[in-house]
Amino acid sequence: MAVPKRKKSKAKIRSRKASHKTKPVAVGVCPQCGAARRPHRACPGCGYYRERQVISVEAE
Ligand SMILES: [Zn+2]
Repeated sequence: MAVPKRKKSKAKIRSRKASHKTKPVAVGVCPQCGAARRPHRACPGCGYYRERQVISVEAE
């Protein structure tokens, strides 16, 4: 089995792990009510998705 010849330096490991940072959460705007809404999800404010109501929201 192939085995690494040298131990990787801390800088090498840290520079690789620097690319493992998570992306910020994608947030869009609801075309129905203008509230912040995640893409491909029903709006938490008005319950609309693709121009029709798909979930009921108590306080509208
Ligand atoms: Zn909405």
